[in-house]
Amino acid sequence: MHLRSTKIVATLGPASSDPALLEEMIRAGVNVVRLNFSHGTAQDHIGRARMVRAAAARAGQEVAIIADLQGPKIRVGKFADGKVLLEPGQQFVMDASRTEPGDIDGVGLDYKALPREVKAGDVLLLNDGLIVITVDEVRGEAIYTTVKLGGELSNNKGINKQGGGLSAPALTGKDMDDIRTAMSFKADYVAVSFPKSATDMEMARQLCNVAAEDGHRPGLIAKIERAEAIPKLEEILLASDGIMVARGDLAVEVGNAMVPALQKRMIKLALEHDRVVITATQMMESMITNPVPTRAEVSDVANAVLDGTDAVMLSAETAAGKYPLETVIEMAKICHAAEAGRELKFEADFVGKKFTRIDQTIAMGALFTAHHLGAKAIVALTESGSSALWMSRHLIRVPIYALTSKIASQRKMTLYRNVRPLLIDTSTDRDTALGQVECDLKKREIVRNGDVYVITCGEPMGSPGGANLLKICQVG
Ligand code: PGA
Ligand code: MN
Repeated sequence: MHLRSTKIVATLGPASSDPALLEEMIRAGVNVVRLNFSHGTAQDHIGRARMVRAAAARAGQEVAIIADLQGPKIRVGKFADGKVLLEPGQQFVMDASRTEPGDIDGVGLDYKALPREVKAGDVLLLNDGLIVITVDEVRGEAIYTTVKLGGELSNNKGINKQGGGLSAPALTGKDMDDIRTAMSFKADYVAVSFPKSATDMEMARQLCNVAAEDGHRPGLIAKIERAEAIPKLEEILLASDGIMVARGDLAVEVGNAMVPALQKRMIKLALEHDRVVITATQMMESMITNPVPTRAEVSDVANAVLDGTDAVMLSAETAAGKYPLETVIEMAKICHAAEAGRELKFEADFVGKKFTRIDQTIAMGALFTAHHLGAKAIVALTESGSSALWMSRHLIRVPIYALTSKIASQRKMTLYRNVRPLLIDTSTDRDTALGQVECDLKKREIVRNGDVYVITCGEPMGSPGGANLLKICQVG
């Protein structure tokens, strides 16, 4: 029985705000929680973050927190009756200057710049692409459209332009406030919605650094959900610590059919660049209302695992669904089975690469050694977590135990595929710490007498600088 190596990210919301339930969800497999700043107040998020830390402590497991910023979601205004039912063929006017509530003939706009960014012939998608309208004419502040695909349109639903091209900046005033809130509870990751360039990510990082008075440095995750982000994937990736394959908005902008191939490309590129990657949105969608997933959802989760994603994410399933715990249990099972069934060739894709860093060379050496000796575990002493990150970018069956004395590093590493981060006491010397790890591995039945495992660490211990030592140990 191998241990699950794909991580599960669960979005918190009303359906998962009970402390006992959250603890059960963590025990069932949640490694990372996502606080969605598109909903709720600063106080809600601060309260939830506190609840997560407490539930994780009770479950005896570290859990990372992602603060997911709303970003410039481009939305319609409100309706007098809360919603309207749009019919195909009808006219509909979206007017940035409209102040009275909307009706069946038209609605105001949250995003006032929209009339200057669309032209006749453009296709706009409302409510996650369920409603399709085409622009007939733009006159002043008003966009005159014809409904192609009708449906119910309710207050503040999102607007996307097919093919992308809306210029709203990635960070809004609200996002800046939310970054301060997220830094107040030391969010481990900050996810930036709708970034278009490396600059958007660099700006978010600076805002985080300024807001964190205590030197806390969150990981930055770029949500790839704009058509414009695709050609800039590499530069965005390099400016971030990870990416999210944000299939919801991305599908609306580039078309559903493009998404699976993009998912594969994004995961591959992230791994090549030593970045983490989360596959998100509608993975177990039917479990919002049903106690079991569809066959297609099972395949979708399994395929993301086979693509090599670090983590799979749940959104409304755990935030607002009827079966949050069951969804986590099912998802963990699917990941586990997909990993076990994965044909694993040891692709020593690093053999042809040149490494100039000693610590990175040690990390790759550990993989190579563990593979050839049939080691049962890799133990990486890593203060920052870099060694664990480098190793986990390659598919191997050997579990990576990452030991750090920094709680922030431990939490960050909970997102890395195949990495089990453990906290060690800095006051103990290295040999004592390593002795404790061996005992722990024996207790968990990861290793038995005679088994081999591999250690990487920096010598002397505790001094700054990366790993420079690779040691092979035999238990017994
Ligand atoms: P969201 O992002 O859930 O915040 O919209 C994910 C996505 O668009 O897929
Ligand atoms: Mn989105």
